[in-house]
Parts: sequence; C-alpha cells; structure tokens
Amino acid sequence: MLICTVRGCAQALLCDGRGMVCARGHSFDISRAGYINLLQPQDRRSKKPGDTAAAVQARRRLHDQGVTRPLLQAIATMLAPRSSDVVLDAGCGDGFYLASLAAGAGFAAHGVDISTPAIDAAARRYPGCEWVVANADRFVPYADESFSTVLSITARMNAPEFRRVLRTDGKLLVAIPAPDDLIELRGRGRDRADRTMETFASAFTLIDRQRATTIADLDAQSVQDLLVSIYRPLQAKQPEAMHVTFSLDLLLFR
Ligand SMILES: [Zn+2]
Repeated sequence: MLICTVRGCAQALLCDGRGMVCARGHSFDISRAGYINLLQPQDRRSKKPGDTAAAVQARRRLHDQGVTRPLLQAIATMLAPRSSDVVLDAGCGDGFYLASLAAGAGFAAHGVDISTPAIDAAARRYPGCEWVVANADRFVPYADESFSTVLSITARMNAPEFRRVLRTDGKLLVAIPAPDDLIELRGRGRDRADRTMETFASAFTLIDRQRATTIADLDAQSVQDLLVSIYRPLQAKQPEAMHVTFSLDLLLFR
C-alpha cells in the first residue's frame, strides 16, 4: 500500500526485513521506534519542516490532561468509524486523534506527518498503528484507493491526493480552527469554513458540518505549553492560569 517517494518512481514499497524497498531498489529505513521515514532531501529543506520536538511534547501534555477530549469525542461521533475502516490521518502530529479513534473502533490506522519528532512520539506511544514521515503536501505515499477514510485535523489539505488515495465511497473529515479557537490568546480568527469547502468542492460533496467547542481551565504550566505548541513567543514571566476556548469546525465529505 505504501509507495516510493523518490521523484517519479511511485512503485510499491515492500518490507525486506530491515526496511522498505521498491522494485527499482530505492530503500527507506524503519526507525528503532518503528516508523518509516519516506522524506526526500527536498522535503527536508522545506520551509515547513513541521513541528519541533518542544511543540510536540507541549501539545501531548495538553492532550494528556484531557483538554482536547471533547474535540476527540465530537470527531468520533461525526465520523462513526467501523472496525473494517482503513484510515489515513494526513498531518497526524503526535498521533493523539488517530490512535484514540483507532483504539475505540479497532480500525487499521495510518498516520503521516512531515515532522520526525511528531512521528517518533506517535510511534513510541502507539505501536499498533503505522507511522510514516513524509511530505503529504507534495504527495501522499500510498497507492490509489488505499483508504476508506481520510482525516485532516488542523493540518494541511491536499484535495487531489486525498481523492486519489480514497476509495470511491470513502469519507473525508476535515477539522479546521473555528473563529473562536484560542480566542483568549489570539483574538477572533477568520472563518475558514467557506474557503475549505471550496478547496474540496470539485472532488467531494459535503455531507455534515458541526462546530466542536470546549472551554478548558488551564493552569499556568498548561498555558505555557499551549503557547509553545502554537509558536507564540514566550514572555519573561510565566503566564497565569486562565480559561481557554478550543474550537474546531468539522466538515465531513464523501
Ligand atoms: Zn522507488
């Protein structure tokens, strides 16, 4: 199901015991943590190399506190995954959403992210899923019609590639920050829903739309973690405890 990311190759990748190799002999390592690294040199030089280790760890602490649990629950309710599903999370970060959904439904889970620290963290905590470092903005390293479901949760959106790797009857769930997401920290944001629907309009049909919102009571350390996870410059003095709104617009397409 995985395909080679060497430019113009796209041959199937097979496991040779130590790593993954294509019919043309391009080979990729499986890390000690268990993930597959399909990044190409041009991806490493990307201006968007993905999350840093500090941001990944900060975000994971917030997930571990249960801050994002209501958002996860809303995604699970909208998606209603089944054990027979084969799910790709494109831009999966530390794997929290994908692995939590997979643990609940028992489906086959595949996570891709351009950040090596994020995928390393995902692979160490959730060894039951497949984790791949790759640049899904360039192309999604899977064969056509590999998945019944694609997730893009506050991540990049590659509409033609999502269409290609989804089965014809597949579902796509896109989560984007709602205008009131983190409003206490950065003010009201743009409403991205219309533009996102336009991005997917030519290849998908919108079948459901919900807003998931939760207000978390964060202590000072968690506010600090949140600032690190969104790359806000930190002040000299530790921020104070506060209530923070987490809010996602969920769009479900088929
Ligand atoms: Zn190849």
